[in-house]
Amino acid sequence: MNKLIKAAGTAFLLLIILTAGNSSLFADSTYDKYFTNERLRLDVIFAGDASTQSVFLEELAREPFWSGPRVNLTDPFNYGEYRYTVTDSSGNVIFSKGFNNLFQEWRTTAEAKTVKKAFNGSYHIPFPKIKVTVTFYEREKESGSFRELGRFPVDPDDKLILSDKPNRFKTDTIVYNGNPAEKLDILFIAEGYTENEMQKFRDDALRFSRYLFEMEPYKSRKSDINVWSLESVSEDSGTDLPHKDIWKNTILSSTFYTFRIDRYLTAPNQKTVASVASSSHFDALYVIVNTDIYGGGGIYNFYGLSMADHPQSAPVFLHELGHSLAGLGDEYYSSAVAYEDFYNLKREPWEPNLTTLVDFDSKWRDKIQKSTPVPTPNEEIYKGVTGLFEGGGYMSKGIYRPYLDCRMKTNSAEGFCPVCTEAINRMIDYYTGKKYLGGVE
Ligand SMILES: [Zn+2]
Repeated sequence: MNKLIKAAGTAFLLLIILTAGNSSLFADSTYDKYFTNERLRLDVIFAGDASTQSVFLEELAREPFWSGPRVNLTDPFNYGEYRYTVTDSSGNVIFSKGFNNLFQEWRTTAEAKTVKKAFNGSYHIPFPKIKVTVTFYEREKESGSFRELGRFPVDPDDKLILSDKPNRFKTDTIVYNGNPAEKLDILFIAEGYTENEMQKFRDDALRFSRYLFEMEPYKSRKSDINVWSLESVSEDSGTDLPHKDIWKNTILSSTFYTFRIDRYLTAPNQKTVASVASSSHFDALYVIVNTDIYGGGGIYNFYGLSMADHPQSAPVFLHELGHSLAGLGDEYYSSAVAYEDFYNLKREPWEPNLTTLVDFDSKWRDKIQKSTPVPTPNEEIYKGVTGLFEGGGYMSKGIYRPYLDCRMKTNSAEGFCPVCTEAINRMIDYYTGKKYLGGVE
């Protein structure tokens, strides 16, 4: 008897040690309490103009795989112009995520001062086991704090949750390192590839995967990443060039000339992109467009997208993925953009690699050596030095960046600056379910 009790006691102690060493055991049980292994997609519509906006629920869809982490269920980053939360009946937040969208970018163009427009968006949560409420918030430009835009009840037993398979496109594995819940899953989606061009897409996706793992920090983190490809077929080859009156019938309706900027290539209908990807594993969507014309775009927790065949395909892909995956801001300030006053200089931007100095302590101040002048002159002798360089976020004055040159500034930069590198590493930690790394916020 004594022996038995002792054995039970040892087992209990062992359990405590195991549990203490693996905090995800607790976290996993939280996940299992609220969510199934499936994914719920909320298709919503954002509508308004430069001064006002509203959000409307269009429909809900059931998808097979939740590929995201089962720990870190509430967003640790505070990035994005928007956020959505999932709350239980007591109001506890059981999931949250920040994001950007094309509508918000459009709201900063001159057109939005005179016209009201609507853009759709698709947002994913683990499929709930209980009735929940999904609430959308906008970040107020003046204060930087979040304001509620709308809330939608979700009943997991609702018979109207769309459960059909919208397509049977083949998902292939390019790099598989393990359970999607514990890996960052990047999905390459074919756009503007006809049935006969699918081998070209396979080659292109493989090449983009090589670009990824040739660049730090992805190179060192390869074992934390799965790469998938989705062979979505288009009627026509290529993409739209509205300013040249060239129109192609493609699966994602991608187009150059977004907001009347020649090189701004996007697929404005996010619901179409999400619907095509609905049966695939993904944390981050990346659309490869079958064109040799220079262009691309990347929007945080929306998708990244760029041209397949161009001498600059590698740096543009890594730059756009920096936006869409890691929430990095543009460190350049000389190229033409459609935005007006994109950043409010009176508040700290949320992007980890830009500062207005309103709250520089929350950024990379601790990474600057005492011998480095602050602000740091935009001179070659400071190449490779972490400092405070004026110019970034489309403005030459009032916004600062960490490095003379970075992948988020030019295509000719050697790679990501140390601040961007750390931000990407933290995002990989988040998706792999590792304990969230502290540091710059
Ligand atoms: Zn950078």
